[in-house]
Amino acid sequence: MFRVSQFMRLIVEGERHGEMSPVSPASRRGSASMAGTLRSPPMANRPITSGPTPPGPVVIWNLIRRCNLSCKHCYALSANHDYAGELSTDEVFKVMNHLEAARVPVLILSGGEPLLRRDLFEIAARAKSMGFYVGLSSNGTLIDAPMADRIAAAGFDYVGVSLDGLAATHDKFRRLDGAFERSLAGVRALHARGVKIGLRFTMTALNADDLPGLLGLMRAEQIEKFYFSHLNYAGRGNIHRAKDAQFAATRETLDLLFDRAWQAALDERDEEYVTGNNDADGPWLLHWLHRRRPDLHARFGGALRTHLVAWGGNSSGVNVANIDNLGNVHPDTMWWHHTLGNVRERPFAAIWSDVSDPLMAGLKQKPRPVEGRCALCMHRDICGGNTRVRAQQITGNPWAEDPGCYLGDDEIGIAEGGGRVRVTPFSGKLRKSVYAVTTA
Ligand code: SF4
Repeated sequence: MFRVSQFMRLIVEGERHGEMSPVSPASRRGSASMAGTLRSPPMANRPITSGPTPPGPVVIWNLIRRCNLSCKHCYALSANHDYAGELSTDEVFKVMNHLEAARVPVLILSGGEPLLRRDLFEIAARAKSMGFYVGLSSNGTLIDAPMADRIAAAGFDYVGVSLDGLAATHDKFRRLDGAFERSLAGVRALHARGVKIGLRFTMTALNADDLPGLLGLMRAEQIEKFYFSHLNYAGRGNIHRAKDAQFAATRETLDLLFDRAWQAALDERDEEYVTGNNDADGPWLLHWLHRRRPDLHARFGGALRTHLVAWGGNSSGVNVANIDNLGNVHPDTMWWHHTLGNVRERPFAAIWSDVSDPLMAGLKQKPRPVEGRCALCMHRDICGGNTRVRAQQITGNPWAEDPGCYLGDDEIGIAEGGGRVRVTPFSGKLRKSVYAVTTA
């Protein structure tokens, strides 16, 4: 996750006070304490103190695969029926003990549609009592007034609701007429009860034009957070990869988002803009500043770069983890075709620290053993080699260049014309999880 607004505030601070805050030791990747830093997730509601082992990752937990919708880019390939073998309430509670022992600070309860899980509020209550920061990721369509009351009473620290366009586009993506209105009603009901909400938007070529309208909606509804997700190649999102918004459109869109975040920082608005699934957004911020404010780039470009390197880019397998509905652990939500172990069989900490898995060994390596133009790139220390699942899905090699990187050769400091991995249409088969790791 790239916290655009936090970096914008740093630049504003530089302009106003003549200097930018230095990077604190705590903000460096892998540091034992990341509270309040640019790479920090929301912190747990219990102390995660310094210790011999670093804090555990943010865990995105798909508690249920069932969903009342069947969205076009769903990574979980969910449908509206029950799935066999999901973790029971007791098993979930036991895993939570293991997550606490692994010093996990944050649980994001997701699905499917997590509100369809009958014990969701029991799980949330226990998670809160154990001191986890607890987020909820929902499609919003089931949040009527009574449900909003329950969510507010449960004390969720944050609720993310997906809106993938304005009404017509969103309903088409969600394959349900009226889905937009229902989700928006859910957002309003939560907002009226003081719940912190974020809108989540996954961009493809089919919905990019709706972004300005959604940003306007965010402000009109006084929603605090906007999460802009690049398309990743997993689940139904894989099917759309050949229609992934072209690089020029991605750059234009990010400029729009960065301009917005910059103005919000200048105006000291209580708005957060974050991006996900493309860590080239870090280097792009440097390019954005160079084009928009060359004076500030000349003064603070070096300091900003130091902050970006401390952020360090992609966190899959390090600071972000995923547990699916069956208890399988994955490096993140886009790696459901690669399982590291199952929480029914081994405690989470044992699975997470096991680098006998070649993919985990590579993800935990610093720098990661990326190849191709990523290995030569001058920004590799910022973006961390970006999103490995895209490389793996297109080439079969998780360490190949990220085909979703929208930066040109000149922008990454390599000779032009070296050729790129081409994004091909999805053939219908996920590539196998068999890897060879080469060291850089
Ligand atoms: S070329 Fe690779 S390492 Fe460089 S910015 Fe793009 S994705 Fe990141």
